[in-house]
Amino acid sequence: MARKSKITITLGPATETPEMIGALIDGGVNVFRLNMSHAPHEWAAKMTKQVRAESEKRNSHTAVLFDLTGPSIRTGDVETPYELKMGDKVEFRAEGSDASIPISTTVNYPGMMNDVTAGNVLVVDNGALLMHIDRVDDDRIICDVRTPGKLGSRRHINLPGVRLNLPALTPKDHKDLALAVECGADFIAGSFVRDAAHVRELREAMEALEGDAQIVSKIEDQEAVRNIDSIIKTTDVIMVARGDLGIEVDFEDLPILQRRIVKRCHELGTRVIVATQLLESMISNPTPTRAEVTDVMNAAYEEADSLMLSGETSVGLYPERCVEALVRITSRIERSGGHGFGQNVILRDERQKTARAAVTLADSLPDARLVILTRRGVLANHVAMMRPRTNGIYAVTPTGKVCRQLSLTRGIRAFKMAFSSNIEETVERATEELRSLDLVRPGTPIVIVSDILSDHFAANSILLHHA
Ligand code: PEP
Repeated sequence: MARKSKITITLGPATETPEMIGALIDGGVNVFRLNMSHAPHEWAAKMTKQVRAESEKRNSHTAVLFDLTGPSIRTGDVETPYELKMGDKVEFRAEGSDASIPISTTVNYPGMMNDVTAGNVLVVDNGALLMHIDRVDDDRIICDVRTPGKLGSRRHINLPGVRLNLPALTPKDHKDLALAVECGADFIAGSFVRDAAHVRELREAMEALEGDAQIVSKIEDQEAVRNIDSIIKTTDVIMVARGDLGIEVDFEDLPILQRRIVKRCHELGTRVIVATQLLESMISNPTPTRAEVTDVMNAAYEEADSLMLSGETSVGLYPERCVEALVRITSRIERSGGHGFGQNVILRDERQKTARAAVTLADSLPDARLVILTRRGVLANHVAMMRPRTNGIYAVTPTGKVCRQLSLTRGIRAFKMAFSSNIEETVERATEELRSLDLVRPGTPIVIVSDILSDHFAANSILLHHA
């Protein structure tokens, strides 16, 4: 049985050679992510070329996702890291102002003093240090240390529950976006997307550069959760970015939010990635913990489109074993079925209703396959979102870009094929391709769904055919 859950991994020093990229594609990776917080431009361009070359050698449609840094708050440079004890007072001040107490650092966002109030919690370095804001002045805040730890340079700051007035895109994001477009990125992810206007701003900035990537919106804070419906409706893909989200909300809420977001993505017909710490211990260990196996199983059971690894493959010791673990766990759980959120897709237009009818037909026929003839991939995504039971869902589309953009979609295998003006000929060619790859046997029922116009077929047609 083919695996349905797609795999996204983050490239880094542990995985940057062509040999490793090739091995990871062979192992089952569908999307390579470049984390622009750490990726120099020359390196990102080189990685994109390597992914394209290795993918082409294998005749696969592996995608590249550029993940923009977004407007994060960071501490300034400190000469030597401060060793903080419980009860120490720490100052965060605007750049250009002088320290007023011994433990003091700048922050890169002067607006922070206007956004916070005394009593807010401040988290440094992804949860390594917790503080309580005691006093807020025009150009500085004073915090009380609640958990001991080290405060170093350029550490990430989270302010759970605080509405920040940060811009959607920073000057660095604009530069990274230009590179992503130049490299022909298949997906571009916006970090700390807080509302639909942010998604639109990113899309407009990309289109102004004549980019044609699909937009991934990373859900990382409470405001994004509050605006989730409008973000889902505006974006191409949602990412449940559990690293930051797990800091911005109480940790016991995280699995509930994950489930709610995945379910809502199904209902509104938008693809979803579950990201971060799926196999964190495998950064240094060859096997996952039992809890990690259960976490991966849960995301696959929720029938998310893709599962994403970060440090496990960018800097970890066992990138190939991590991919193998995802393949093994997701394949196993897929045999036992899933949550079935695809039953709840809200059918808004005729195309979605056609997709539902095709899926119902295919699911009612033993061992049937689904073939979607699709120019932009929209119909293929609609069909996949209904989470058909069949293990063969094939998208046939004339462009490589659409094939790559479907590499993130659960259950879909895409084939690049020019459409003939005669739809029977296109169907015959697609069937021949499936036969040649042993994906169908003589007599296998194939439900073909199409929204392409041709001489004989109107838009939105369903055809039942036998191989
Ligand atoms: C996350 O926070 O889970 C995430 C994927 O974003 P980043 O790795 O950019 O912090």
